[in-house]
Amino acid sequence: MITDSACAAMPAGSETGDWQQSLANAIRTPEALLTLLQLEQHRPLLAAARRRGQNFPLLVPHSFAAKMRCGDPEDPLLRQVLPVDAEGYSPEDFSSDPVGDLQAMPVPGLLHKYHGRALLIVSGACAVHCRYCFRREFPYAEADPKRGQWSEALKYIAADASLSEIILSGGDPLIVSNNKLSWLLNRLAQIPHVSRIRIHSRLPIVLPERIDKGLLSILKKNLQQIIIVVHANHPKEIGADVLSALREFRKTGLLVLNQSVLLKHVNDSVDCLVRLSEALLNAGVLPYYLHMLDKTRGTQHFEVNEKCAVNIHTELQHRLPGYMVPKLVRELPGQAAKTPVSLPL
Ligand SMILES: *Cc1c(COP(=O)(O)O)cnc(C)c1O
Ligand code: SF4
Repeated sequence: MITDSACAAMPAGSETGDWQQSLANAIRTPEALLTLLQLEQHRPLLAAARRRGQNFPLLVPHSFAAKMRCGDPEDPLLRQVLPVDAEGYSPEDFSSDPVGDLQAMPVPGLLHKYHGRALLIVSGACAVHCRYCFRREFPYAEADPKRGQWSEALKYIAADASLSEIILSGGDPLIVSNNKLSWLLNRLAQIPHVSRIRIHSRLPIVLPERIDKGLLSILKKNLQQIIIVVHANHPKEIGADVLSALREFRKTGLLVLNQSVLLKHVNDSVDCLVRLSEALLNAGVLPYYLHMLDKTRGTQHFEVNEKCAVNIHTELQHRLPGYMVPKLVRELPGQAAKTPVSLPL
């Protein structure tokens, strides 16, 4: 049976306002997720999810699952998190490190690929496991983001005066506690050439409770400019809870951008992406990038071919004001920036 409203009530604990409790209560088994969505009768779906979820297990917070449609195995949010059999099929050009990250790591936990900015892996953990993720096979153990290793990265940053922007990423950088984050921001504030901090996080979308008073006050009093880049792929992800979390960021005066990945059967339509841009703008967020899928092993079923992607993007330009159109880009190893995708002239 398909119902339009959000599914079953959330378990006790997810209403306490304590995001760590919500994270602890997140859904971690295909059984629990499919039962919540009244899809437990779909045996093949369940069997595949069990089979394919071994190395990169299912993980989804309740607030994200509550935005999925009950009884709908094709739900675009469900598709992003449910392991499926297609993950077992991988052509040769889909690898474990498609974007050449391991070659760009001068010290553990720091990626320095582009001029003027470096990316610090603050934590290997996330609040959700996105099946299309290019980091699903990334050896986080080698980029071990323990505090001891941050100091090596901090030394590297301090020694390179060309680095004016540090990107906190992961995994998800907002998965660390406010204390840890505040410690890190204070250390970065002591490096005079770093004038901007960018935070790349999916937590405001999948666990909006994370945007608590403590976090807002840390961000507000930070000396360097802070830019938040969230990650939403579909307009349904911007529910009332996410909307108010994003507006809290804006109230503190931060610039908030969004990046999405173009995903087959999730958001590969003009209408869907128009609605996403509108929902983002309504929340005070500007669309930044629309990424082509990275060719990561086990993600091929999400790939949208280049011609389709360019057609969708061109149509977006016809339908929306320029500032609401994200840049369509691909990440290619060895390039000095993300590469814009367009049709050959
Ligand atoms: C994507 C990325 C960045 C950020 O690129 P921008 O174009 O500045 O958004 C920085 N470092 C690494 C390693 C990246 O993958
Ligand atoms: S939140 Fe980001 S890093 Fe984590 S699994 Fe999803 S896409 Fe990957």
